[in-house]
Amino acid sequence: MEHFYTIQGEGFHQGKAAYFIRLAGCDVGCVWCDVKDSWDAAKHPQLTIDTLQLKVKATPAEIVVITGGEPLMHNLDSLTHTLQSAGLKTNIETSGAHPLSGSWDWICLSPKKFKAPLPGILPLAHELKVVIFNNSDFEWAETYAKQVSPQCKLYLQPEWDKAAAVTPLIIDYIKQNPRWELSLQIHKYINVP
Ligand code: SF4
Repeated sequence: MEHFYTIQGEGFHQGKAAYFIRLAGCDVGCVWCDVKDSWDAAKHPQLTIDTLQLKVKATPAEIVVITGGEPLMHNLDSLTHTLQSAGLKTNIETSGAHPLSGSWDWICLSPKKFKAPLPGILPLAHELKVVIFNNSDFEWAETYAKQVSPQCKLYLQPEWDKAAAVTPLIIDYIKQNPRWELSLQIHKYINVP
């Protein structure tokens, strides 16, 4: 759908320079999705893996974030092997709703209520990032926190349009449950893609 060099705005790698490759196609159907244009892959042009790699290598980027859409609707073996062979770190942001493919330096699992993650990805996640839209999402987040590895970082992130209402709830929750940390979409505050 698009690719661009920017600052990672969310989660463990927040604040680091990263080249984003946003793959088109998603069948998860989050009602609050902020990239609905990504859902129909047929609307977007295809690029070769070599072209993408050259675009990344034309920048000083060290990290490539593969996102979507739901990137695991595609087999990502060739893309990630090519990027890693070029000396780049490969990070993915996924709902986990499709089988895992690719070779990853960092897996950010962001499960969605609208289509549950497949169980195989849970123990492999380096980071669990749950978007909080309403109060019931805290309990839902805990069901997945029990299924990831003990080393997995845990983040709660306010849904952007509900941030004013839910951020105070998240702060209270983290103070009571300090294994969790706050993730903010800082790219939206500093107005970068
Ligand atoms: S998984 Fe991501 S791209 Fe797909 S509908 Fe949900 S927020 Fe949008």
